[in-house]
Amino acid sequence: MNDRFVFDVLLLSSLVTAAVTAVFLVFVAAPYGRHVRKGWGPTLDNRLGWVLMEAPAPLVFGLCFMVGEARNTLTALIFLIMWEVHYIHRSFIYPFGLRGEGKRMPIVIAGTGLLFNALNGYLNGRWLFTFSGGYSNLWLLDVKFVAGLLIFVAGFIINRQADRTLRRLREDGESGYAVPSGGMYRWISCPNYFGEIVEWIGWAIATWSLAGLAFAVWTAANLVPRARSHHQWYRESFADYPQERKALVPRLW
Ligand code: NDP
Repeated sequence: MNDRFVFDVLLLSSLVTAAVTAVFLVFVAAPYGRHVRKGWGPTLDNRLGWVLMEAPAPLVFGLCFMVGEARNTLTALIFLIMWEVHYIHRSFIYPFGLRGEGKRMPIVIAGTGLLFNALNGYLNGRWLFTFSGGYSNLWLLDVKFVAGLLIFVAGFIINRQADRTLRRLREDGESGYAVPSGGMYRWISCPNYFGEIVEWIGWAIATWSLAGLAFAVWTAANLVPRARSHHQWYRESFADYPQERKALVPRLW
């Protein structure tokens, strides 16, 4: 079995499991955050869980860059920066800003997140820096790259702003919930998920790769059902929840 064969099998498996996961998550809300509940085995500290499950993404991707034969272009460097800016924040900064004392996460969630992020880092990093044969610097002028980059940056900003709004809803030591407002919360319940999905669609377009597409599909598979669960939860938990607010897509859904 050669390296490329393993890569192709993993990429195909990733696309198939994304579809299965999406269907599963429509019926079973992933048990972390407000949807955490008994029956999912032993738990660990929430912040530690976030670090453990996210850290493989920047590490494995960075390793693929270092060993890749097709990394000596500015384009490769820009892809590295896009990925690492998102993931260094998500893995090593975001978890330590979370508020919610005593929160726990099932080990099974941290474990599956860790596996997913390791696989995803491998698929994207290996493709970009080895199997693609390299993206020349002319790719930076391609309309797909330019459009993808702009979409990626827009999604990143929306995601970060929305996560910051949620953080401000709690003081240190608090763990309750409030109705978020302002920014895209005027229109939807989960702008952080909207931004994340937009971000990785931008990535798929900028890299124009099946690995990038698989990641965008995975992100939607995780976050579309979760946005639905969050939206229902808000409506059930707050009698005065804004009626006009949609779950994930302004004005539509
Ligand atoms: P949530 O919106 O569920 O929660 C984010 C943080 O805000 C948590 O600390 C949560 O507390 C707190 N919070 C949420 N709503 C409220 C509220 N109404 N009042 C007070 N505090 C609130 O996001 P996730 O934890 O699911 O995801 C975190 C980030 O990770 C997001 O940016 C998301 O896009 C990203 N992500 C990406 C995935 C991907 O596939 N690419 C998959 C999953 C997440 P608590 O934990 O106590 O509920």
